[in-house]
Amino acid sequence: MPTTTTAAVLRERGGPYRLETLELADPGPGQLRVKLAACGICFTDVGVQRYEQGTPLPQVLGHEGAGIVEAVGAGVTNVAPGDRVVLSYASCGACNNCGHDHPQYCSNFMMLNYAGVLSDGRAPFAQGDAAVYGGFFGQSSFATHAIAYARNTVKVEADVPFALLAPFGCGLQTGAGTAYNTLDVQAGHSFVVMGAGSVGLAAMLAAVDRGCHSIIAVDRVAARLDLARTLGATHTILADGQDVTAAIRAICATGIDRIVDTTGVSAVVRAGLEALASRGEMAMLAVTAPGTEISFNPNTLLGGRSLKGAVEGDADPQTFIPWLIGRHTAGRFNHAPLVTEYPLDAINEAVADMAAGRVVKPVLVMD
Ligand SMILES: [Zn+2]
Ligand SMILES: [Zn+2]
Repeated sequence: MPTTTTAAVLRERGGPYRLETLELADPGPGQLRVKLAACGICFTDVGVQRYEQGTPLPQVLGHEGAGIVEAVGAGVTNVAPGDRVVLSYASCGACNNCGHDHPQYCSNFMMLNYAGVLSDGRAPFAQGDAAVYGGFFGQSSFATHAIAYARNTVKVEADVPFALLAPFGCGLQTGAGTAYNTLDVQAGHSFVVMGAGSVGLAAMLAAVDRGCHSIIAVDRVAARLDLARTLGATHTILADGQDVTAAIRAICATGIDRIVDTTGVSAVVRAGLEALASRGEMAMLAVTAPGTEISFNPNTLLGGRSLKGAVEGDADPQTFIPWLIGRHTAGRFNHAPLVTEYPLDAINEAVADMAAGRVVKPVLVMD
């Protein structure tokens, strides 16, 4: 008997989501079914909704699911029915990078997260005889139920509400992981985040946790900077056309030790590079539009400075997500002020509010 699910289906590029009733396939070997309680919305969902990115339609998106395991397929041993779980990105477990604890650079990442089908080739959803694509980031969680894999399902022991758990699967992992893992921010460091959205603020929360001495948030939206201050920013800079490098150096004359760029905008990246201290490091995590090029004076790098890129915070979800949830429950990583809850049927309003900067991290809650 197939499971019936209510899902937000994207049928045309640039179009709205529509709630539809679909049949969900049974979990195959290594797969499991989750009854979802919440799913965050991330800009990656918005990107696929708006632009051709190789993902087939109609499809169910959503990649920050959290809920309760309902059924497991053969060979699933890390979770059991009744477990509370967070869903993250999918990886194969067999390639060179997976074998060296870097599943975020899995050779099969695109196939497992963007192909629109499960790794066994099945479309996870159907409506009558018509297949509906899914398996987005190994889940497709804009729905009441999802098929996920053992590898991207993380068991949660902590008593944290699902609406706060969901964003650990991507946005919090990406932002915080870039600061903790990629840049290894420390108490002696000065820190800047370029772009104070949910990912940038998650990176900043990590800098606050580690005790960085100057924590500067840069954004075009004044309300986000107000939020950044309540979360621990020691300084904020409104990017309203002013010279951001000069504004940063007015705060830290010798430059900045660690910078996270969430914008991927050429002028912003250049401003960050020019604000780096000697031996400073800057990490980029934004997926930029095709054709984007970034120019900077290469002499900037000669002071021992480096620029690197990172996906999913250089994090292995099975170890990093429980660790980060532990920081949260210890009172060291409070992302609750980022989250705004919406019912699943308000998904289009939630996306519009996020895109307009009215909310930072919308989380859909299923009842
Ligand atoms: Zn792999
Ligand atoms: Zn994401």
